[in-house]
Amino acid sequence: MTTRLQNYCADAWIEGSGYGQPVISAIDGAIVAVAGSEGLDFTAMLDHARKIGGPALRALTFHQRAAMLKALGQAILARKEELYALSAATGATRGDSWIDIEGGAGTLFTMASKGRRELPDDVLFADGDHEPIGKAGTFIGQHVYTSLRGVALHINAFNFPVWGMLEKLGPTLLAGVPAIVKPATATSQVAALAVRIMIEANVLPKGALQLIVGGIGDTFDHLTCQDVVSFTGSAATAIKLQSHPVIARESVRFVAERDSINASVLGPDATADSPEFDLFVKEVVREMTVKAGQKCTAIRRAFAPRPLLEAVQTALVARLSRVVVGDPAVEGVTMGALVSLSQREDVRQNARALAGECQLVFGTIDQVEANGDTARGAYQSPLLFRNDTPWDARVVHDIEAFGPVCTLMPYNDPADALALVNRGQGSLALSVFTHAPDTVRQFVLGAGAFHGRIVFVDRDCAKESTGHGSPLPMLIHGGPGRAGGGEEMGGVRGVKHYMQRTALQGHPRSLSAVLGQWLPGAPQPDAGVHPFRKSFGELEIGDTLKTASRRVTLEDIEHFADFTGDNFYAHMDEIAAAASPIFGGRVAHGYLILSFAAGLFVDPAPGPVLANFGLEHLRFVKPVKPGEAISVALTVKAKTPRTPEMGEVRWAISVTNDSGELVAAYDLLTMNALQ
Ligand code: NDP
Repeated sequence: MTTRLQNYCADAWIEGSGYGQPVISAIDGAIVAVAGSEGLDFTAMLDHARKIGGPALRALTFHQRAAMLKALGQAILARKEELYALSAATGATRGDSWIDIEGGAGTLFTMASKGRRELPDDVLFADGDHEPIGKAGTFIGQHVYTSLRGVALHINAFNFPVWGMLEKLGPTLLAGVPAIVKPATATSQVAALAVRIMIEANVLPKGALQLIVGGIGDTFDHLTCQDVVSFTGSAATAIKLQSHPVIARESVRFVAERDSINASVLGPDATADSPEFDLFVKEVVREMTVKAGQKCTAIRRAFAPRPLLEAVQTALVARLSRVVVGDPAVEGVTMGALVSLSQREDVRQNARALAGECQLVFGTIDQVEANGDTARGAYQSPLLFRNDTPWDARVVHDIEAFGPVCTLMPYNDPADALALVNRGQGSLALSVFTHAPDTVRQFVLGAGAFHGRIVFVDRDCAKESTGHGSPLPMLIHGGPGRAGGGEEMGGVRGVKHYMQRTALQGHPRSLSAVLGQWLPGAPQPDAGVHPFRKSFGELEIGDTLKTASRRVTLEDIEHFADFTGDNFYAHMDEIAAAASPIFGGRVAHGYLILSFAAGLFVDPAPGPVLANFGLEHLRFVKPVKPGEAISVALTVKAKTPRTPEMGEVRWAISVTNDSGELVAAYDLLTMNALQ
């Protein structure tokens, strides 16, 4: 009996009511499942997300949401073999599925770790530093991010049913926004299982995640300014959806990632013997064959210096000849099938269009030797085209054949290469194989505006390089123009798509209370006892210690110079220091000020402060001359729990002279016992 995929609506698994749409095996044409969403109440799903899922997620702090993402990633890994088993019917090799399944879980882990390390244990976060506005310091500005109150509608592509879902889900859930996921029907059986695994992990609040397997009905009619649509797929669908009147009327955020004619360039410094030549050839073939070229970042256009074109073609053809196409279950197969026969027809149609202006130098468009069911499996040999006059070509720069297809072209000089890669009118990824730092800068300046990511590969980084086609969760994935104009992931940057940035203005006391963080100008009440004697829980934001003062003498300066070996003229040479436009005489070492400051504020006995682990934002504002006295204000600026036993305390430290002028300011970081 064929499996009917279930939708997950308002915390219940429901089958669509109609006939549904068959999901066909890429390997042998068998029906592996039926997907359908007919009869679902899409409005009720939106309501459920907004009324139940959103409030539950927003009640959790970023750290709690991060822990949830980690648990979801662990659940995927614990049941990965079930996903691998289903993934085989999509035509993927084990390696292709590894990118999708374990790469997807890895993306959740990275987002979890970013959330825990870079966001506060709170439900909002500051964007940048405060902006002083009033002269007396009683009126300041501060940007903050708060969670949107709506729902994220994720419409995903067929090529990476797990990764493609999780790379969107991680930032969404971390932002505190519920998601409704609509996978591409062709591989929806894999996405549906991944959703089931996450639901069964029992870590998500009710309403946080729902699934539609099939059409999305009238969902778009009910979107508001608090919702986000995040789409990956063809430009045609993106344009159609983005043109929906509700998107314009309600200013619904629409993040799009779509067709991209990515390029790779063998640098002008390369020779046929250089390591970069081999690395380039390997990468082009890898990008053509991994996932049978069905990667949004795959290299579609490969550019080489004109004198090297022949040698590059020979090397590419030699390597492509070793590719074995077929059922990945068969021993020795190195490239699997396209996702479906209709997708293959699409690729072939685009390949025929390419053949109209390019020469096919490897592979056959319409007939494939493959180890598998060649009548019903969606197999396609890699196709390498060549075009010697790229400026006369159009199709190669405009049409994405979403399969194992690439065109090799020459360029005359770096300016020509730049103009040609930019001719794609916006891409997700560009790679340049060069060992010349000047070329790297030239490409960043000449091509940066057209590409979401640029990877430079040379002999020294190749071993660790993650390659042309791998988007990473800590870096942005997206691109301008043809690529859709969207940006995903990029660590915390990706979270911001699901949050609203608001500029706040007010008294530092009020804005400190909003952030749970002391801001200059906010009250600094006396801590009562020395703050180093208070446990993490007892410390209040703003708690302050004002120390006694200490006079800095010339003997102190000379002793410090002698002891540390730091005999810089400003401290030790009276004549040179007097001639300095900055010092106008001998001054104390900055490090001496820091050391004396510590001597003034430290409470020495063992207690809740376990370790000092660094200073940040250190500035020496005004020199301290021999004979001047300094004193310190130590204020609790922020507190962040780090482990069940310890928390990080950020202290604002200001060192002032006898006249009350600031001489040094910095943040001190300590690890404190929670109890
Ligand atoms: P589509 O644009 O057809 O589909 C993408 C997603 O949109 C799928 O989930 C699809 O669902 C959904 N969709 C399609 N029509 C609608 C609609 N009217 N309303 C709501 N959702 C809709 O792309 P494909 O996945 O079929 O791939 C086609 C081409 O797109 C590829 O050949 C390639 O060129 C490009 N592509 C680009 C990618 C990129 O990241 N840049 C990734 C994948 C594909 P359903 O499957 O149910 O139709």
